[in-house]
Amino acid sequence: MNYLLLGNSGLRVSELCLGTMTFGEDWGWGGGVEDCRKMFDLFANAGGNFIDTANLYTNGTSEKIVGDPLPASSIHKCYRAVLNAGDVPKDLRWAAATLWAAHDTHIVHYPLRGWKLFNLVATTIGKDISQGHNEVASPEEVLPQFAHYCEKPLKLMRTPKQFTRWILRYRDPIDQWTQGPVALLGDAAHLMLQYMAQGAAMAMEDAVALGVACDASPGDFEKAFKRYQDMRLVRASRVHISADSLIGQIFHVPDGIERLVRNQIFMGRKPERYYDALEWVFAAPDYVRDFNKKSRKKN
Ligand SMILES: Cc1cc2nc3c(=O)[nH]c(=O)nc-3n(C[C@H](O)[C@H](O)[C@H](O)COP(=O)(O)OP(=O)(O)OC[C@H]3O[C@@H](n4cnc5c(N)ncnc54)[C@H](O)[C@@H]3O)c2cc1C
Repeated sequence: MNYLLLGNSGLRVSELCLGTMTFGEDWGWGGGVEDCRKMFDLFANAGGNFIDTANLYTNGTSEKIVGDPLPASSIHKCYRAVLNAGDVPKDLRWAAATLWAAHDTHIVHYPLRGWKLFNLVATTIGKDISQGHNEVASPEEVLPQFAHYCEKPLKLMRTPKQFTRWILRYRDPIDQWTQGPVALLGDAAHLMLQYMAQGAAMAMEDAVALGVACDASPGDFEKAFKRYQDMRLVRASRVHISADSLIGQIFHVPDGIERLVRNQIFMGRKPERYYDALEWVFAAPDYVRDFNKKSRKKN
């Protein structure tokens, strides 16, 4: 097998690429699992390491055969709508991220683009009903799932003419993001639920840390990737675990004793205490602050 260097990444990729769009019979043609595994092994044993796959090939079967299937769908489902600020009920035009929580559901809303738009995200827990990637959902589908809410948030929920549906996917935290000359970042390294609203923020911090680590060990990517993982693992995993277990559980507790305990924890809390509790999230790590300073100087 002949190899080429992939840009200046240091990665050696085989000149031959194995296309796997025909792995799986879901589209009425293509290969069965056994045949595809044989093809894959033949290619890998001949030294091939360049594989074309995608999460949508044969409805995900291709990735299952190749070995990195789409993560399991969680039972969490989001409905989103962006509204014109003028359409939002006046008594809910608050200049803050607002959360309404009830059993197995919560609703979040906040203004966008200097009060021109308003973002509404309503989450439910229950059976998934589709692949759920930015699909259109009607109010008739959404509203019954929030029928147990009081009138104020319901008035807002009745405003959009349509929502988009997202079925959320999830992976447990892992403590190895790198092996040899390969490193994962963003959702590939830490696929969390969105309850801390930090998935993309963590992906960007990963990118900054990766750049810093690579600058510190020019050409030695294996060393740089280990350093990158050391810089990022605990912080990103803390967000990951907080989003999935801590916050998720608080938002969605059932009626009864768990709800009473949740309410007591938050009752009478001053805004400052909320900010203090989240300081660790929004106080950027040193490498991000340095990066910001350098970018500002450049501009
Ligand atoms: C409902 C919802 C609300 C969210 N809210 C927030 C928020 O408020 N704040 C926040 O910070 N984050 C939020 N997130 C999380 C955020 O969207 C993700 O963490 C972020 O997009 C991850 O970026 P990424 O680049 O790692 O992955 P992605 O954005 O998923 O990018 C990966 C790309 O790779 C492509 N791809 C996949 N397979 C292949 C292949 N085989 N070959 C080539 N390309 C491929 C995909 O098509 C995709 O374009 C939210 C997520 C959801 C679902």
